[in-house]
Amino acid sequence: MSYVYDDQNIFAKILRGEIPNTTVLETEHSLAFRDIHPQAPTHVLVIPKGPYVCFDHFAQSASDAEIVDYVRAVGEVCKLEGVEADGFRLIANAGKNGVQDVPHLHVHILAGRLLGSMLARG
Ligand code: 5GP
Repeated sequence: MSYVYDDQNIFAKILRGEIPNTTVLETEHSLAFRDIHPQAPTHVLVIPKGPYVCFDHFAQSASDAEIVDYVRAVGEVCKLEGVEADGFRLIANAGKNGVQDVPHLHVHILAGRLLGSMLARG
């Protein structure tokens, strides 16, 4: 699958500073910020700064430096947000069936309440 990145997506605009965000962490290759419609007391999105549509695109095309930075950034956000003790959920939606709304790779870090079963029906 060859992915085509749309640089008009909302996270590309956030990365260019065209739309404000509440930053939790910024690293060389990654940005973490609070979701505008939080689904839990802690709801942070972590994105790579590079033009990757979804997780498999990133895994196949990003440099080792970007991948290490991104994975470490997710871990650092977990530490900063103090989610390890009570647990958290990491979600990466992709494509139509994954119900991905924004076509720039992001993981959701959700925590701060019991999150229930993994998948809603329907
Ligand atoms: P997806 O459905 O693509 O996995 O998740 C996209 C997420 O981006 C949603 O949880 C939505 O609330 C969040 N979101 C959409 N637009 C904005 C925005 O302009 N700012 C922030 N911080 N989050 C956004």
